[in-house]
Amino acid sequence: MARRRVDVPDLVARARGGEPRAVARLISLVEDASPALREVMAALAPHTGRAQVVGVTGAPGVGKSTSTNALVRALRQAGRTVGVIAVDPSSPFSGGALLGDRVRMGDHADDDGVFIRSMAARGHLGGLSWSTPQAVRVLDAAGYDVVLVETVGVGQSEVEVAGLADSTMVLLAPGMGDGIQAAKAGILEVGDVYVVNKADRDGAAQVARDLRSMLALADRREGAWNPPILSTTAQSGDGVPAVVDALAEHRAWSQKTGELQRRRERRARAEVEAIAVAALRARWTQVGERDELDDLAAAVAVGESDPYAAADLLLAGIDDR
Ligand code: GDP
Repeated sequence: MARRRVDVPDLVARARGGEPRAVARLISLVEDASPALREVMAALAPHTGRAQVVGVTGAPGVGKSTSTNALVRALRQAGRTVGVIAVDPSSPFSGGALLGDRVRMGDHADDDGVFIRSMAARGHLGGLSWSTPQAVRVLDAAGYDVVLVETVGVGQSEVEVAGLADSTMVLLAPGMGDGIQAAKAGILEVGDVYVVNKADRDGAAQVARDLRSMLALADRREGAWNPPILSTTAQSGDGVPAVVDALAEHRAWSQKTGELQRRRERRARAEVEAIAVAALRARWTQVGERDELDDLAAAVAVGESDPYAAADLLLAGIDDR
């Protein structure tokens, strides 16, 4: 595949100057796993670590994308610039110029202080854990004050994405049997701020009560953060400024207690690991050809070898290349 040569220093300078097209191009390089990323990430590194990274998660239909939009509006009113990455762990499609992004942009389309982009996790790399943190780095280095990472799909990956943020906001809503669902999905362990959305609907107060009693059962360490439960009507924006305040409070608390640093180290660890694993896998995967792993797999499948011996051979082979 012919690739356009990338002038990394120029692109990085333009992205840092707030040019949305340059930011978009850098995120495309992440999605495409471009060889230029090595240089891009080296150039971005000194400019990262400033943004407040907020994960937005919850079951489909609770109002994540409506809430993200309302949050963007409230943050802009508070004078802050915002980058949004909407991650769809289940979709194989790349987001670049999807219509969805233009719809999402809504009234922010002419606002250079807002950047919104959908991303899909691609199977052949480390998936979300590989691409999402790198996209966050791009937006952080480009100078957005707040980076919102919204998960679009369902499943365990929501919890993984939550682990990538400085603060995680978990959304629930009435009429979805949420309490129990959320507990099952492990979502009750990851929230720093809980939001019961659709407060205009019957049952919202009950969801908040159920949630409060469930959270009260959780084991909390001495001095641990006590996650607030807020209610919003994302469609009208009611209650959203209080969410912005709660996120700011969590950020201040985690900075003071060292939790922010711990989370960032955990995030960097996952990121380094994902890159290393992807690099390792690339060593034994020849796209479109029968490779060493195929031969080893065939031997294991018929009982000529066992999976441990085969894995040892695979790893030993790497040193010879
Ligand atoms: P997502 O799947 O979690 O991203 O949810 P969406 O943001 O797409 O919202 C799902 C549906 O709930 C849409 O039809 C929204 O218009 C609606 N919705 C979102 N927020 C509210 C709200 O505060 N009140 C009511 N009544 N409906 C809402």
